[in-house]
Amino acid sequence: RRTIRGEIAFVTGATSGIGLATARRLVGEGAHVVAAGRRADRLRELREELGERLLPIELDIRDRAAVEAAFDALPAPFSEVSILVNNAGLGTDRGPSQAASLDDWQAMIDTNISGLLYCTHRVLGPMVRRRKGHIVNLGSVAGRANGPGSAVYGATKGFVLNFTKNLKSDLIGTGVRATYIAPGATESEFWLVRWDGDRAKADGALPIAEPLTGDDIAEAILFALSMPAHVDVTELELMSQGQGFGPRIFHRG
Ligand code: NDP
Repeated sequence: RRTIRGEIAFVTGATSGIGLATARRLVGEGAHVVAAGRRADRLRELREELGERLLPIELDIRDRAAVEAAFDALPAPFSEVSILVNNAGLGTDRGPSQAASLDDWQAMIDTNISGLLYCTHRVLGPMVRRRKGHIVNLGSVAGRANGPGSAVYGATKGFVLNFTKNLKSDLIGTGVRATYIAPGATESEFWLVRWDGDRAKADGALPIAEPLTGDDIAEAILFALSMPAHVDVTELELMSQGQGFGPRIFHRG
């Protein structure tokens, strides 16, 4: 297995859940980590916890100019990003499409698609020039599954799936790798965000005895990153042992 000691990772959405677990894990494995997110207090705490190999940056990835400025301003030794973990995202389909708020749809597209593209576009050129890099994109089992209450979220993750596979195809022979990670239901603040801070609804949204955790997904990301350089882990899907492949949906008339 390849070591990731000395790599420079940029993790979006490092203030919570999967991104937080991944930032911790990467620092633990000896990487330098740029931790990006909007909540400054969480970023400060993370810096205190993990020390100088973590660089916290307050960033809203929906803001294209801010993303470019953030990458441009990265100081040594964080400037030559060799791993990008596009993790920041949210699912705010809070009911059927016919009851949806257009703002909720827009937020998912701006974050899960546009923000991911802004970050990816910024690192691709330098990675290819250095013939070294790995882009890890967080999708979801919802990127393939169809069902109620996930119309735009599932579609954004379907975008991430297809973008990652097409990107991998463009990167053949460049030394730069691309991986799609598709988690099933994972315990995190995702559910609280989905239900706009309603704790009771958020708790009820995850009716599995033992859902996945951020640490489980961080472990899968580590696996992909630490494969030998000639191995592209193109896709990994993970589910709790208590989750199945989709709902049985009928209208009985
Ligand atoms: P959390 O809500 O716990 O974490 C989401 C992270 O994204 C936070 O750190 C948040 O930080 C950040 N974020 C959201 N919007 C922005 C933005 N505009 N700019 C910068 N950062 C942003 O959820 P998870 O950890 O569960 O989700 C991580 C990824 O995994 C997402 O892409 C999600 O779609 C995916 N996923 C989650 C599943 C689950 O069941 N939880 C299942 C499958 C996939 P801040 O608010 O500080 O900006």
